[in-house]
Amino acid sequence: MDVRSNPPAEAGGRELSGITPSGSLTLGNYLGALRRFAARQDDGFFFVADLHALTTEHDPARLRRLTLSTAALFLASGLDPDRATVFVQSGVPAHVELGYLLESTAHVGELGRMIQFKEKGGRPGTRASLFTYPCLMAADILLYDTATVPVGTDQSQHVELCRDLAIRFNATYGATFTVPRLAPAAVAARVRDLADPARKMNKSAPDDAPGVIRLLDPPDLIRRKLRRAVTDSDGEMRYDPATKPGLANLADIVAALTGRSPQEVIAAHGRYGELKDTCVDAVVGALDPVRRRHDELMGDPAGLARLLEHGAGRARSVADPVLRRARDAMGLVGAPYRADGGCGVPPMPTAAGRTTVDEDGERRTLQPPHQGNRS
Ligand code: ATP
Ligand code: MG
Repeated sequence: MDVRSNPPAEAGGRELSGITPSGSLTLGNYLGALRRFAARQDDGFFFVADLHALTTEHDPARLRRLTLSTAALFLASGLDPDRATVFVQSGVPAHVELGYLLESTAHVGELGRMIQFKEKGGRPGTRASLFTYPCLMAADILLYDTATVPVGTDQSQHVELCRDLAIRFNATYGATFTVPRLAPAAVAARVRDLADPARKMNKSAPDDAPGVIRLLDPPDLIRRKLRRAVTDSDGEMRYDPATKPGLANLADIVAALTGRSPQEVIAAHGRYGELKDTCVDAVVGALDPVRRRHDELMGDPAGLARLLEHGAGRARSVADPVLRRARDAMGLVGAPYRADGGCGVPPMPTAAGRTTVDEDGERRTLQPPHQGNRS
């Protein structure tokens, strides 16, 4: 999953970006996403899409670690929690709830046509959430009143669906959502896998994939991976992504990190090995401070949790009113969930003081529920 919305700032749009913690973030994620975040962070929303990581088999301990580490990498790459809203998706329950309302708007026919479902799903053991997650992704977008969504090729079908659902919902229940406009995404340079430059570098590759540079790899490991990067055997220093993709990839990486053109980078080196050395220096130089800052943040779990709760609070203040509009429009009368512990239900004095026994045999005395805010 890759939710993005970055309309031109002059259009008054806000940046919205979600990254699924499906693996430890890579140099590709850094150059293609994280590095850009800091530049457009004011009024922006940046979240770790942990709910989307539940669509395929997952390990809870790994998910927990990757979620926190991804959030720490957002901050370590320059997102300032006072300027941008940085949060974990599952900390804003409106995502799940609006996701369900949109599942109740979508048709099985249109969900079944999603290419990613056709490719990855369709077996009896496929999780149902892999089928419905485009509705959750639509909720991710619609909750923030996003005006423009840039679409890259792999997600365009999901964003089209989001638009269709918003239009259908508004037509059926009354004007509720801002219908996002699709815009072609700026084509960012794609970092290729060092061991197989025909493929993109992906975070969900196996943890020990030799061609994937992780943002948290120590300098030695980065050096080893880059020294072993696959090139070609003609020895000619020439920038040609079609016939010399390995060399072009290294030049693209150096170019992205130094602001030079890849052709200039190639021209400045006599041999492949020299270019690899330059690449090691550039990558280690860029990632070292990010890794150190990440480690500091992870070394203070309570502090990190506070920062993320601060972000979740800000996200809820924008998302909850949108959810409320959708609930009202659909005819739901139950009082909304409130993250501050209030259940929104009026007090039931008769229950107070009554003692019950839980399923696990524990005795509890019921307290009167909080007086909810039913605005
Ligand atoms: P997955 O394997 O889970 O799809 P991924 O590495 O492809 O992981 P995404 O979650 O699909 O990452 O995308 C997160 C962000 O990183 C997006 O903005 C995407 O454009 C960017 N991105 C991902 N891979 C690269 C890459 N190799 N080069 C440049 N940008 C990338
Ligand atoms: Mg991807």
